Amino acid sequence: MNKERNIRVLVLDDDKFMLNFVSHLLRELGVSEVLVAEDGKAGLFVLSAQVAIVDLLIFDIEMPGMDGIEFLRNIADQKYGGKIVLFSGVDAGLLKATERLAVVRGLNVIGTLAKPVTVGALAAILEQLSLPIRANVDPSRIRQIFDVEEIRQALIDDHIDMFYQPKISAASARVTSVECLARWRHAQYGYISPDNFISIIEQSGLINDFTRNILKKSAQQLDLWLQQGLDLKISVNVSMQNLDRFNLPEIYEEAVRGCNVPIDRVILEITESKLGEDFARSLDILTRIRLKGFGLSIDDFGTGYATMETLKYMPFTELKIDRIFAHGATKDASARAILELSIKLGKVFGLNVVVEGIETQADYELAAELGCDEIQGYFIAKPMLPDEFVQWLSDYEKNQ
Ligand code: C2E
Ligand code: CA
Ligand code: CA
Repeated sequence: MNKERNIRVLVLDDDKFMLNFVSHLLRELGVSEVLVAEDGKAGLFVLSAQVAIVDLLIFDIEMPGMDGIEFLRNIADQKYGGKIVLFSGVDAGLLKATERLAVVRGLNVIGTLAKPVTVGALAAILEQLSLPIRANVDPSRIRQIFDVEEIRQALIDDHIDMFYQPKISAASARVTSVECLARWRHAQYGYISPDNFISIIEQSGLINDFTRNILKKSAQQLDLWLQQGLDLKISVNVSMQNLDRFNLPEIYEEAVRGCNVPIDRVILEITESKLGEDFARSLDILTRIRLKGFGLSIDDFGTGYATMETLKYMPFTELKIDRIFAHGATKDASARAILELSIKLGKVFGLNVVVEGIETQADYELAAELGCDEIQGYFIAKPMLPDEFVQWLSDYEKNQ
């Protein structure tokens, strides 16, 4: 038996593509046994069923059902003694906080990986296990999951589809709007989540074309729905990298006006984590976006660095509390406190407060009780293609 490959790794991710991809890379790097699980429960089962120990556990801290923080609590209770690597598409701050939590619980975290995962990053982790990696790894594989050219071609060939996830009013349960989420329709891998390719688009200077394209597609879809008599708004994700040009408000206005859609039915969501980098420029652009009539949402609130100053001066109309607080809140006192205080804070600033990542009846009831305005999450519905969404909406309304 080849000693250097004698290691057992368990990979946990709800994203099937990532699961296959990371397992494949690990095998390429010479790992002898790669086990996979698609959620926390299955992961715990694999761990408890293993006669021999799992040497390394690599898992996504954001999974539906049992999230990474609950999973850590469980494996700490089980006295898991192997090494751990956390990975996630969320920002570095949240990953660090989770890492600290694991260490406090006595777990042995040897590193974190941001998506998209690369062979190079995985090889560095395996090196820390003092397991020499196979020398003959094909260097051409040491690259991003997808290279820029592959993505550029996908954009040219229009292989990006939009999925729509409803948001409902907490008071009336009526569907108010949809968040527009991009998916790459890949010939080999099926639908690929944006966590695996948005950062590459950002790094390669394609993000402006990408966002304008997404905005146009989503506005065209909204136009169709409005013509069918559906009273909806849309929320579109804008990357902070987009805020690099002062004429952005005009570009977005043109994209939406070309589709006959009233601008006040379009909300742009921006992740708070990078808002402070160039405050004056962000303030200038965002204020003019508001002046054009767009709604502006501060996304993933609670995971980044939004300060009181951001809330006070930036012209936001909506605050979206990150799913990590929504889902943990019924079982975890500190998550509940953050959820409750964030809702209050949003209300003080007169914002429409949305709680996302609602997965269970209990999550739903707590968010509504704490006074948020709108709710989004798998408990209501997963993101869907347009036809599926229309069918879902009709069924949903019949049951109201
Ligand atoms: P986000 O803006 O926070 O979007 C919500 C994400 O949470 C979506 O993942 C959605 O599928 C997922 N989600 C919704 N409800 C639940 C739930 O109850 N539980 C759990 N565990 N997850 C839930 P998705 O579509 O994979 O998107 C990931 C991120 O990629 C988005 O996070 C957003 O930041 C980014 N993204 C998506 N589409 C675009 C886009 O067109 N442009 C840009 N710049 N970013 C995008
Ligand atoms: Ca969003
Ligand atoms: Ca979000």
